[in-house]
Amino acid sequence: MAEPPQKIVVRFAPSPTGYLHLGSARTGLYNYIFARRNAGHFILRIEDTDLSRSTDEAILQIVSSMREMGLEWDEGPEAPGAHAPYRQTERQPIYHEYIEKLVGSGQLYACFCTPEELETERQAAQAEKRAWVYSGKCRALPAEDAERRRAAGEPWTLRMRVPPGKTVFHDLLRGPVEFDNDTFGDFIVQRSDGTITYNLAVVVDDVSMEISHVIRGDDHISNTPKQVVIYEALGAAVPEFLHMPLLFGTDKKKLSKRHGATKLEQLTAEGFLVDVVRNYLCFLSAEFDESMIAWTLDDLVEKFDVLKLGTSASIFDPEKLRWMNGRFIRQLGDVELGERLEEYLTRVGFYREPAAVEVLAKAGPEALAAAVEGAESAHAPALPPDEEQEGLTRILAPLVREKMDVLADFIPMAGWFFRPLAFGDEAVERLQATPSAAEVLREAAVVLAGLDVWAVERIEPLVRELPQRLGVKPKAVFAALRLGMSGQSVTPGLFESLWVLGRDDAVGRLSTAAALL
Ligand code: GLU
Repeated sequence: MAEPPQKIVVRFAPSPTGYLHLGSARTGLYNYIFARRNAGHFILRIEDTDLSRSTDEAILQIVSSMREMGLEWDEGPEAPGAHAPYRQTERQPIYHEYIEKLVGSGQLYACFCTPEELETERQAAQAEKRAWVYSGKCRALPAEDAERRRAAGEPWTLRMRVPPGKTVFHDLLRGPVEFDNDTFGDFIVQRSDGTITYNLAVVVDDVSMEISHVIRGDDHISNTPKQVVIYEALGAAVPEFLHMPLLFGTDKKKLSKRHGATKLEQLTAEGFLVDVVRNYLCFLSAEFDESMIAWTLDDLVEKFDVLKLGTSASIFDPEKLRWMNGRFIRQLGDVELGERLEEYLTRVGFYREPAAVEVLAKAGPEALAAAVEGAESAHAPALPPDEEQEGLTRILAPLVREKMDVLADFIPMAGWFFRPLAFGDEAVERLQATPSAAEVLREAAVVLAGLDVWAVERIEPLVRELPQRLGVKPKAVFAALRLGMSGQSVTPGLFESLWVLGRDDAVGRLSTAAALL
């Protein structure tokens, strides 16, 4: 009889020792895609056995980053199911149950070697220039002796009785991967304080959660043979493995903060769109064309094949991400871009204090993101736009679309629409250095004030006439008007900007600027 098709069950198992690093986020994403593509089941498990480094705060962060990425899990924190609980600290009784099983079948043995004895072994190995592997000294200890020493209160650990020979496992990207068992020897699964080790916990979790495919970073390859030994000792089916290449910076070093943002929330606070980050995390290891930039998560599920991932290191290039983000923004319709901008500007606190946020944004998106993160960790509530701010954002969205790579670019370019006109020293100097600026500003104010219909098609020809009429170079006319209306040199299109301001405000601003000269 043919075997029933295997049910695909995957898990993403981050350790809550900090925020969700982009490399881990990518592992979560691949697990999600693989599960959904194969009508499988996706479990989120929290590997918090390292108590000294795990925090509840980090768990909340991981949960919220996963949600922000749209990676809903079928089972896990806040979604209990048949395999609960999902934190390793809550699964201790299960580990001990399995340990009992392994002790019962003679696969584990008690080891009484002291740290000093082990250190002596290690030093001897070092002196002979060979890698140290536990000698197996306690392997053959008669059961009664072990019992007597335990009863006498001697500290002991439990070690796996690793069979001689080789361990082979199948990796979906690499094919068979083979390790000589001598290279790791009888390893510890339970420490002398009774706590269990990572390799045991992972295997017990994967077995008891019926995991069919283990998709994780390739830094875990060297743990895998030990884990396979445990599966085999338990008589459990060994899952398929897919070890993903880690993320590296453009300098080929492991991706870290040195390379810029490695945290989803920081990237989104800098004005990257989560859709783009998600797509980039997939495309950085695949051929892609521009039509794929706008892919949704469902598109990724439908079209992105995790099994085609290569095994060479994946290079994360922030400049490519920025380029892709710009492309994505340009593909958005007016309404959607307006919504995204509104959401973003709300998050960064722009509507509360446009001028202050503008100062931050002018210092660069990173400075802005740092301030946002500070406010978020202090749980400062975000303030949505009032009606006028909302209207302005919507009107401006299509006018800035071509000029933005990240949403944060909106602020230095168009923030001035949201506050009264202000001239810094530099703006005044520039205005003074612009030939005939006073005359241009005054004349523009007069002609614009007389305009009966306030429309871009009417504003544009009037302004275009000015150079000839005043005998001033067009470049100087445009520069004076741009500076005069905004107090800065970079703005959305001149005619559109004047139109957005409205006649009274536009005329008022140009007159105010003229009076400065
Ligand atoms: N907790 C491990 C990590 O964050 C993952 C281990 C696994 O997926 O097996 O790297």
